[in-house]
Amino acid sequence: MSALQASAQPGFLAPGAVLGVLGGGQLGRMFAQAAQAAGYEVVVLEPQPGAPAAQVTSRVVASAYDDTDGLHAVARQARAVTIEFENVPADALQWLDEHVRLAPHAPAVAVCQDRTREKALFTRLGVGCVPYAVLAGDDDCRAAQARDLFPGILKTARMGYDGKGQLGVREPAALAAAWRELGGVPCVLERRVDLDFELSVVLARGADGHMVHFPPQRNLHRDGILFSSRAGSGVIAHACAEQALRAARAVAEGLQYVGVLCVEFFVTADGALLANEMAPRPHNSGHHTIDSCDVSQFELQWRCLVGAPLPQPRLHSAACMLNLLGDLWFDAAGRQREPDWAALLALPGAHLHLYGKHQPRRGRKMGHLTFTAALPDDAARAARRACELLGLDPA
Ligand code: ADP
Ligand code: MG
Repeated sequence: MSALQASAQPGFLAPGAVLGVLGGGQLGRMFAQAAQAAGYEVVVLEPQPGAPAAQVTSRVVASAYDDTDGLHAVARQARAVTIEFENVPADALQWLDEHVRLAPHAPAVAVCQDRTREKALFTRLGVGCVPYAVLAGDDDCRAAQARDLFPGILKTARMGYDGKGQLGVREPAALAAAWRELGGVPCVLERRVDLDFELSVVLARGADGHMVHFPPQRNLHRDGILFSSRAGSGVIAHACAEQALRAARAVAEGLQYVGVLCVEFFVTADGALLANEMAPRPHNSGHHTIDSCDVSQFELQWRCLVGAPLPQPRLHSAACMLNLLGDLWFDAAGRQREPDWAALLALPGAHLHLYGKHQPRRGRKMGHLTFTAALPDDAARAARRACELLGLDPA
């Protein structure tokens, strides 16, 4: 690293400064915990009382994300502001971008809020993505029916997450009804591709354009929700990882991005790498970096925000992360129970993270477990054992 890259940006905010985060979920909580560890104070904008991030700081602005008074209150308290979820209304972000240091910037977030804009960006940058059609009016539906996109997946252009806002569409004749079921809002229809596996790249880009990244992780989804992420040598073939890194860097550069960015990719059965979507923030698939790397994705988030140097993270341990969904809090008869934490914590390399959510619900992300080890196989073995204890199919 050159001396220039290693030095702080102009306008460096020293520890003690107050940083704001829009959104009070688990990502906001882990951001706050990382920033607080380095001596920053954190103010959270979150309408829900007792939300995960609101539990870890006394500075909470309890208002909606687009409430002017709330945004003013955050802008007054915080020297710099970031987001923990991308669906903060564009107007609110634009206002903040003009009145306080905001990372990522509003225009980049606006692209990530809309699948049609994401795909247009991938295409413009020469980053391959799944064949798709945009559905905005009746003519679009007819045009899409004539294309080779079936069986496909219809996705709302905005507001989808964890597989929500998506419907499988087997054949052209079923498209119109599926679109109605999604409310007739702007959508993209994607061809369902035959996946070998999925991977993601988490990177950080500073205001000076300097970029650092984590090694790509290999992700497994079930029912549209991330089930596990694995990192370590040999988990992804070198050439494939390099190709994904090049594509993700091109996206960050193309957006003039500042902050932590995640780009999700598909690797198809015939070996093609296709960009799926991106998130303008730390990502569930990067949670293992808290325990497997010398610098976590949340530390990179606050470093970008305060204009601190961005060190290239080093993966010091192989990792396998499992999401802990609310389903695990219910037995087969639907009675509420608690996972056997003592048994899970006895497994080698176990790191438990719970987000302070008091109401388990099916599909709700309650926490995650990361297993670290010297070798990927050992981390995977401990994770398999955890799956047995939790009653999950480890496949
Ligand atoms: P979300 O915003 O809910 O994460 P994604 O578009 O990433 O939405 O879809 C969730 C998951 O569904 C993906 O990670 C993948 O496993 C599966 N999926 C989505 N689109 C496709 C596709 N076109 N072909 C095959 N699988 C897909
Ligand atoms: Mg996704």
